[in-house]
Amino acid sequence: MKPSPGDTIKIATTEATFEGILLQRPALFEPGFIVLKLDNGYNIGIEEKKIKKIETIKQYEMPIIKRKEFKHNPKLPTVAILSTGGTISSRIDYKTGGVIADYTADDFIQMCPELAEVANMKAKKVMGIMSEDLLPEDWKKMAEFIAEELNNKDIAGVVVTHGTDTMHYTAAALHFFLKNINKPVIITGSQRSIDRGSTDAFMNLICSVTAAARFDGAVVATCLHGSTNDDYCILNRGGRVRKMHTARRDAFQSIDELPLAKVFPGGSIEVINTAYKKRADVKVEVEGAFEKKIAIIEVFPGMDPGVINFYLDKGFKGIILNATALGHVPTVFPEYSLMDALQYAREKKVPVIVSSQTINGRVHPFVYTNLRKLSIERDCIFVEDMLPEVAYVKLGWVLAKTQDTKKVKELMLTNYIGEITERSDPRAYPFDHGIAKKH
Ligand code: GLU
Repeated sequence: MKPSPGDTIKIATTEATFEGILLQRPALFEPGFIVLKLDNGYNIGIEEKKIKKIETIKQYEMPIIKRKEFKHNPKLPTVAILSTGGTISSRIDYKTGGVIADYTADDFIQMCPELAEVANMKAKKVMGIMSEDLLPEDWKKMAEFIAEELNNKDIAGVVVTHGTDTMHYTAAALHFFLKNINKPVIITGSQRSIDRGSTDAFMNLICSVTAAARFDGAVVATCLHGSTNDDYCILNRGGRVRKMHTARRDAFQSIDELPLAKVFPGGSIEVINTAYKKRADVKVEVEGAFEKKIAIIEVFPGMDPGVINFYLDKGFKGIILNATALGHVPTVFPEYSLMDALQYAREKKVPVIVSSQTINGRVHPFVYTNLRKLSIERDCIFVEDMLPEVAYVKLGWVLAKTQDTKKVKELMLTNYIGEITERSDPRAYPFDHGIAKKH
């Protein structure tokens, strides 16, 4: 019988034997090839004329999730799980061979019954998209759904499942948008999808629900693996967290401060960094207005200063200049100096925020003469150790409140959610080559 897409097949070619799932041939593949998804998750194309034998090993069966009834346990707190998309919601789409985000929060509960031992669960699907496609208006929509749950007396905390790529932007945005946050909002995701044996989704979910139910902080924090093993997750403050690896399960790291806590899948929480606001009985409001005409501009050797003029001429309202180290930009050679472009920004009253591409450490407006030129002569705003992505999110949020340049500077340098540390914690620097353990 001819195999159909989704079937597990074995193909013997003139060169080798392959076993995997037959995919519908995506339009981008040349004719004369068939496409297999191998066990390691990769897709390969096999030239049809080289095939000697095809054997069907297992026919495709639609995954059926048998819905279980979970009874409300009055002894346990209730957690709201809001799903938004990403790998944690993904499964293979046999039509394209790619992945689609279609598992909902309710499906997670069905697939991971251990969650019911930690808390009662209330699930809602907010959206189903990959995080690289999210927009600032989606952050606002998420904030509104979250606020509704946070203002419900029966809810102990909220878990948001999300794609990991831009999770650190969302974590910062939600932290700024949720005014008077009163309970934990825990954002989680996974680096390996639920249909793979090595998935990190379930432990991340269990730890996240534990944190939402019992962590005593009123913060937005990410909660994903804290090491490459399945031993614990870490809570990183939204606004100080960054995705630092493309594939590792412990990709999310706190920068310049220690993570807030370790959360163990067995249910315990070990606080590491006590500098956070505690749960409070206050009403949460959403301040989700956002000015989208902002650009992050990377500074690099040989850059054309005209890039800045381009944005200014297009009517952009703010710029994040992701400068080198302490905040340097080229200032010496007329053709490459940014000084004229920055003067143009000043005349147009467009705030220029200086952050550092070293990620760790802080920018400084006065140490060198050329830094003084930027800060004093061009009014560039040096934002201490605020991460570039956080500076972007914050500037969009600030510019929706005011476009008065003095006020913008004052608000950008006001510490709202712990996005600026008073002193960078040297223990948080991760690149120690295994000499000292970070946490
Ligand atoms: N790029 C996708 C996203 O961020 C998948 C990555 C992931 O969830 O880990 O939504």
